[in-house]
Amino acid sequence: IVPDVVTDDLIGATFNPDDGFCDPHSVAMGYLAKARRLGVTVERNAQVRGITTQSGRIVSVDTAQGSISCETVINCAGSWAGAVAALAGLEVPILPYRRNVYVTQPTTIIPGQMPLTVDVTSGFWIRKEHDSLIMGLSKPDEAPGYNIAVDWAWLDTVLDAGFARFPRLGDVTLNEKQCWAGCYEITPDHMPILGRHPELPSFINAAGFSGHGIMHAPATGLVIAEEVLDGTAQSFAIDPLRIERYRTGSIFERNII
Ligand SMILES: Cc1cc2nc3c(=O)[nH]c(=O)nc-3n(C[C@H](O)[C@H](O)[C@H](O)COP(=O)(O)OP(=O)(O)OC[C@H]3O[C@@H](n4cnc5c(N)ncnc54)[C@H](O)[C@@H]3O)c2cc1C
Repeated sequence: IVPDVVTDDLIGATFNPDDGFCDPHSVAMGYLAKARRLGVTVERNAQVRGITTQSGRIVSVDTAQGSISCETVINCAGSWAGAVAALAGLEVPILPYRRNVYVTQPTTIIPGQMPLTVDVTSGFWIRKEHDSLIMGLSKPDEAPGYNIAVDWAWLDTVLDAGFARFPRLGDVTLNEKQCWAGCYEITPDHMPILGRHPELPSFINAAGFSGHGIMHAPATGLVIAEEVLDGTAQSFAIDPLRIERYRTGSIFERNII
């Protein structure tokens, strides 16, 4: 499945032939087009700067384009979700953490397709994108923040982990201009926070997806729509993902990239 990978020290691996890739930009544009067809109005350059409540109910959001009356707010602000919640006086533990994506020049060392491959021992991940390889490794002591400059000092550690599993990576060249970094939106247990906020029930969280928000988007959209329209999610139970779990204890996901 993945040629020239070192497997001597592995006791097992998983492979899901139904997994796949999507182009996140096209996915987002698809949702946007459908939302507009359904009558959604999109306000651009309208940063939310305040959320006004009266008697425990939301009455408006105050934006750079003026105030918008509303009864419900869905907090889907990604790595800014903690800051948006704070505008309503709520604490939602989501912080931004930089993650780097290192991109190689086009290469033939892996002909054809390869699945996203994760070495769960080191956390190193790699996959093919067009004719190049993209790879990364989370930096455990990265401080939270919105810095998305590529971390070149971290590259050697990434490559060491990569060479150990894929020695032929030594044959490829980095395409420095294509490398990039973005922010994961991370919660204390690396799982998303979904659903109504107990202190302000018309404030609905849909954020904290770490590095999984694209693949979780269809299911998230469904249960958050149900949370708004039906009062609570119907299609599947989101109680383990509600913010209340931090009061009752939660499961820490370890093998996450
Ligand atoms: C390096 C990297 C690799 C990733 N790889 C994958 C992957 O392989 N698979 C996967 O499923 N996911 C992946 N992710 C995660 C995925 O990109 C996110 O989980 C997803 O984009 C979250 O989408 P979202 O719409 O919830 O939030 P975002 O895309 O972060 O959108 C939030 C929006 O809120 C806006 N906003 C913030 N504050 C305000 C405000 N005050 N007022 C108004 N608007 C505001 C922002 O401008 C932004 O447009 C990756 C992320 C990174 C950084």
